[in-house]
Amino acid sequence: MAESFSAPFVRGIDANRTLKDELTAGVRSQSARRRISVTDLVNPRQAFFRWTRPEIQPSPERIQMMMSGTGFHNLFGQAISTEEFVEQFVEFEGIVGKIDIYEDVPVELKTTSTLPDAPGAARPSYIDQLGMYCTMTGRGSGRLFIYRREYFGRTPEFRAFRVEFRDIEPIKSEMVRRRDLFQQALETKDPERLPRCEWFERNCDYLQFCGCADAELGTRMIPATVFQIERDTAVETALAGRMNNTPGRSGGFRLNDLVFPRKAAYEHQQTDEEEVKDETFETRLRDIEREGFRGQLYKAVRFGIPGAFKNMPVKLRSLTGRVGTYKDVPTLLRSTRVTKFIDRDRLPEERPWYFDRLAFECALLGSDRGRLVLYYETMPDDKFMVYDVGFKDLPAVLAEADRRLTLLETGADPHLLPACPPWMSKMCNFKDRCGCGDVA
Ligand code: SF4
Ligand code: SF4
Repeated sequence: MAESFSAPFVRGIDANRTLKDELTAGVRSQSARRRISVTDLVNPRQAFFRWTRPEIQPSPERIQMMMSGTGFHNLFGQAISTEEFVEQFVEFEGIVGKIDIYEDVPVELKTTSTLPDAPGAARPSYIDQLGMYCTMTGRGSGRLFIYRREYFGRTPEFRAFRVEFRDIEPIKSEMVRRRDLFQQALETKDPERLPRCEWFERNCDYLQFCGCADAELGTRMIPATVFQIERDTAVETALAGRMNNTPGRSGGFRLNDLVFPRKAAYEHQQTDEEEVKDETFETRLRDIEREGFRGQLYKAVRFGIPGAFKNMPVKLRSLTGRVGTYKDVPTLLRSTRVTKFIDRDRLPEERPWYFDRLAFECALLGSDRGRLVLYYETMPDDKFMVYDVGFKDLPAVLAEADRRLTLLETGADPHLLPACPPWMSKMCNFKDRCGCGDVA
């Protein structure tokens, strides 16, 4: 069993039935209201199958591609902006969206394998997405950053564009029209009236069900007459400077680096040739489309009661992160594939990584109470539990966070840091060097 740092600091764990019922109601209303996202509206036909055929999962290659973009999004966001402005959730007319960076105007960040030189070559879907975010925030312009990944020795490259929208009213109307069309398709379980996607038939996971050969192409969300796009070389130069002055992976730390510090220490020792993968569960949850009950639960926490969920920035020297709070209590959403409920008193020993993370989050926010929403994904009937967790001696928890971070920041021998849970070593690139589990 994995070593638990936080178990001695747990004052008590209570199952919170009131909140569980509240979230269950929230899940029901989420399902009824079908909260539609900006991404759904870009290619609604493909989104229809994503919603209605959750059993069809993207191929491993596609997941890998999505994840590589995700890692870059995180690093780039950290490099050019601050926690306060990255990943901003917005809502408009029952449509939700997540803006990559939103300081003065929305910024949409795209990772691609090809880079447009001429502004007109930017994919229409990029403009659609940015235009919708500008509409949702009432801004007449936004920025589009396109990054071409390094590939077989080809150097990575970056382009910045400024996009002005002449009139956001037609965009508003088209968003609402598509929302209604999409909602109707979900209700009738029939995608017939949804237009064909932009990338028609290319490697689509839903090709065999779609019948898109007969589907009409549909109108553009944002016609060419409504926007103007210009390359912004001044911003490219300024950002290149900021990126170069920002320490890479070795300069900044995340909340999970406190929970799995030894692995973080190895990652920070890596040479450029070694691959860095961001494989935190949060990243997966955040960036792969959420489906099924887990998705509804996530949305119920996030959007169920307006204003109840907040994403609070936290910082400890070089560590930056965000803590999700529900009704001002740090709240962690996790899922497990175990087939029986875990006895609540044994949870801190059986799942120490949940509790270590929650303890650090609570210590950083100065809250002596945290909350764990645990979804038992393999159990029938969508079982989940809400646990209220009381912590004691938060200064000692904070001192341990500080100790781990100091060791990480000073490049200490990874063996001075606690080992990760044994299950992690199977997939760990560092297991040969580390001897996982030998040292606590
Ligand atoms: S098969 Fe074509 S139209 Fe159908 S969902 Fe896939 S990309 Fe869209
Ligand atoms: S081998 Fe185990 S302890 Fe070592 S870094 Fe990997 S997962 Fe962590």
